[in-house]
Amino acid sequence: MECSLPPPITEEQISAAIDGFADADVQQHIAQCASCAARVTQAQMLEDVLKVKLNRWDCPAPQRLGEYVMGLVSARTEERTIRLHLEECARCKAEVEDLNVFLVADKVSVSQKHPQPAVARKHPERPSFGQILARILPRTPALALRGAALGPIMAEAEGTTVVLDVQPAAEGQVTILGQVIADDYDSWTGALVELRREGVIQATTTVGDTSSFNCGPFPAGSIQLAITPAVGQTLVLPNIDVTA
Ligand SMILES: [Zn+2]
Ligand SMILES: [Zn+2]
Repeated sequence: MECSLPPPITEEQISAAIDGFADADVQQHIAQCASCAARVTQAQMLEDVLKVKLNRWDCPAPQRLGEYVMGLVSARTEERTIRLHLEECARCKAEVEDLNVFLVADKVSVSQKHPQPAVARKHPERPSFGQILARILPRTPALALRGAALGPIMAEAEGTTVVLDVQPAAEGQVTILGQVIADDYDSWTGALVELRREGVIQATTTVGDTSSFNCGPFPAGSIQLAITPAVGQTLVLPNIDVTA
């Protein structure tokens, strides 16, 4: 899709539009040019994902952190996941330090305070079958795009994030504007997107150059979304409720 009112708006103008500070002529451009409007939506989605990351959706539940501190997390993979997370996440680290102080005050023994690090696994676990199940994150109204009632649907699996912006279509139907966010961006270009309801294909499309895709319209409700890249495993969003 090309800008219908060249020159296309600049990255700075896109940032300004997201922050609500765009000049009148930029706003008018976005209103009249589908290509630049899509760029703004995409940039907004990326920003939303970053915000969600800052909102710690990757963090272990507070209760689980507490159990970790007390040495009660015995499954090695989980213990390791939490330990690695703590190396990266300042907020959880602070929380654990607080918990430690609290536990010391509560006269919990020192041995329990510092769980033994588990021996690193020789073979990191990988599903042997051809699918990865994505974790669907709760929809956050606070992250809604301007004008949308609900925030985007986000799902995450093995470092790949899928953002789905559900948009209303005629007669109670919806369309999905999707964005795949991954380090290996290119490997998702051309991936097959299949949307099923109770096993029956509702819509298919492919992921475009900018790792985004458009799917629908189809009736709102519960669906399964599968994204299959040319190389690698199919990413499955098992059960998502799409309503606009
Ligand atoms: Zn334009
Ligand atoms: Zn954390």
